[in-house]
Amino acid sequence: MKAMISECMLGRACRYDGKSKPLPDEVINRLKEKYELIPFCPEAFSLPTPRPPARFIGDKIIDINGVDKTDAFFKGANEALRICKELNIKIFIGKEKSPSCGVKKTSAYVNGCECKCDAPGLTSRILKEEGIELISEWDLIS
Ligand code: SF4
Repeated sequence: MKAMISECMLGRACRYDGKSKPLPDEVINRLKEKYELIPFCPEAFSLPTPRPPARFIGDKIIDINGVDKTDAFFKGANEALRICKELNIKIFIGKEKSPSCGVKKTSAYVNGCECKCDAPGLTSRILKEEGIELISEWDLIS
């Protein structure tokens, strides 16, 4: 069975800070036994790396310089959905606290404070709306 996975968790340096956030080897090996992993980074698809961090402000995704990146985030999310449909992928394994890939938590700016709120990121939300099952990285390690 195929599963799309946040690419930074497999070691690609595609995060906003130009780094990766790889899962432990044993977790990756376990996933590979169960799934054919399809790595994808929705932000690196439509934005440069490194890039200023961004978060939700209401329905918009704004970077820390105040630039509205909502359209670019949608572009990456829609590409993730396109790939899932094309390859018949029904599972997405997401990196937490990302405004794109978060499953349980995403970055937001609320009442003057940076925080992680209980909501999915944009890519996760769009995939879920299309019936794709979301798996949090946190549920792989616990
Ligand atoms: Fe990782 Fe997703 Fe952020 Fe890309 S958008 S760096 S895959 S969490």
